[in-house]
Amino acid sequence: MKIVDIRATTVTVPLEAPLRHSNGAHWGRFVRTIVEVEADNGLIGLGELGGGGESAEAAIRGLREYLVGHDPFALEALRFAIANPTASLYNNRTQLLAAVEFACLDLIGQHLDVPAYDLLGGKLRDRVPFASYLFFRLASASGDGEVRTPEQLVAHARELRDAHGFTVHKLKGGVFPPGYELECYRALASAWPEDRFRYDPNGSMSVAEARRFGQAIRDLPNEYFEDPTWGLNGMRQLRDLGIPLATNTVVVNFEQLATNVRDPAVDVILLDTTFWGGIRPCVKAAAVCETFQLGVAVHSSGELGIQLATMLHLGAVLPNLTYAADAHYHHLRDDVIVGGKMPYVDGTIAVPDGPGLGVRLDRERVARYAELYRELGGYPYDRDPARPGWYPLIPNDRWADPS
Ligand SMILES: [Mg+2]
Repeated sequence: MKIVDIRATTVTVPLEAPLRHSNGAHWGRFVRTIVEVEADNGLIGLGELGGGGESAEAAIRGLREYLVGHDPFALEALRFAIANPTASLYNNRTQLLAAVEFACLDLIGQHLDVPAYDLLGGKLRDRVPFASYLFFRLASASGDGEVRTPEQLVAHARELRDAHGFTVHKLKGGVFPPGYELECYRALASAWPEDRFRYDPNGSMSVAEARRFGQAIRDLPNEYFEDPTWGLNGMRQLRDLGIPLATNTVVVNFEQLATNVRDPAVDVILLDTTFWGGIRPCVKAAAVCETFQLGVAVHSSGELGIQLATMLHLGAVLPNLTYAADAHYHHLRDDVIVGGKMPYVDGTIAVPDGPGLGVRLDRERVARYAELYRELGGYPYDRDPARPGWYPLIPNDRWADPS
């Protein structure tokens, strides 16, 4: 099998409401790039990349001369062909590599008629558990969906919990003043004392502020405190809080993982199939974590069904997946794959059993959301539509006004 072409299509898929985070917001939709890698046997492997537009599509097209003639089975060679660590200092292709790796695993699986998980060691579970991943939200265009007050947050969590069966809840914070978000987080925890909770302000608090917050939640059933402050050295200062610390920001490659093993700062590593450059690097990183008894979970960087499939195949094969995965997925109104959105049952999603990634493009949906992208264009992820001109500091003190 040889690669003969690679194509990229930008799509934008609506969310139920704009999702706020410490750096800005998802403005009511996700923008994603669908990557198709075609082989000489006519098979098409699927990949997905965050963001999109002319530059993302050009970056994918620019890989064509590197990839045409490459054997999709040669996955280790692929890394050095397009993203070796010293050349990557200049061209930073890790996330492009990830999209191509997904597509190659999809091609191999289709060629051999086996699911991707069988290429990754075989599945250990049929379904992957997910957390509810709660966001403060702006109202949607139709005026509903706002999540701002503790009451709205608990009501929103109740809806998701009832609809999808979540028993683990992650609150994305870093939007409002920490004291206010503390009140919101405690309201959640008191609504379901038997559930488990995570708070993630995306590194926006100072070490001192994060310490105050951590001390104020120590009595709750916290699974972990995710990126309370910025940097391995900031996180390390919070280890005495007695709450496991998690990250998807300061351990996102093997150098940082090694640093964290030699001088521990973080207890749980959230593996992101895009940030790490593919599913296989995440499997390797999980093995390092197993050796050093670090926790692992599956991170969500905002996915459609192709990326979700990579997260499910990853989740299926990790023996040490002791935490529910994160997904933005339930905030989407639709998907680009055949059959539409994958369903949650009891807080879990079934691992696709079809060949390769086990998901196929719904061409009509891709065309519809590519057209929507042409109509709407991109949006600045690191800006907040409710606060024109605003941008945060790290550590932040420019919080949104909860009133
Ligand atoms: Mg995070």
